[in-house]
Amino acid sequence: MKQTTRYDVQEIRPRSPYAACQFARAAASTPRCTFALILCVLIVTVAPAFGRDRESTDGAVSTQPKNNAIEAGFDEALDVPRISGALYPRIHNKLQQAYPVAVDHLRNNPKCRDLFAELGTNGFKKLSTTLYSQSTVTMERSFCRGGVTAITVIESPSVRLCKRFASLGTVQAATLLIHEALHFAGMSEWPRDPQGLNPREIDALVKKSCGF
Ligand SMILES: [Zn+2]
Repeated sequence: MKQTTRYDVQEIRPRSPYAACQFARAAASTPRCTFALILCVLIVTVAPAFGRDRESTDGAVSTQPKNNAIEAGFDEALDVPRISGALYPRIHNKLQQAYPVAVDHLRNNPKCRDLFAELGTNGFKKLSTTLYSQSTVTMERSFCRGGVTAITVIESPSVRLCKRFASLGTVQAATLLIHEALHFAGMSEWPRDPQGLNPREIDALVKKSCGF
């Protein structure tokens, strides 16, 4: 496969934090399972301060009016997802189904847009500039194992979709796309960021805020 864009994971500095996000059904006996649909595991080796966690930005003022203005400008860009290289047909189809659902939920839920505003950016901009590509064979054998469905480097527009992504339901996949867009926007995760939300909390936040 191709995969040699300037956003290639391999080309990103070694210290960049990875977020390998997976969809997992939490154990039914675990109370926290209520909040668990997508489990993200940060694969990291060092811990420099990075990203902005929700707690540190909760006081941010909503930029709703501004978002509405920006939204119009991104309408065309939001028609279809940006894709780099060839995707497996099933992954391509799932992405094409889930992307507009993610956009609609972002458009129809002000609190969903606020998640990005609190990170100092715009959700429509992040979704429309995310670059989706297929995981490499090597990544499929490493990062994509154990239920991982996507891999994102914090603050990078590149989202690698594992084969498993194709097996998600459309709503689950749409939730994942917003989850990954938040990583692109700078949202880090515990334990990589001791002050950040853990993966399940991010999932719960996306579901609640974005109306899933
Ligand atoms: Zn994640």
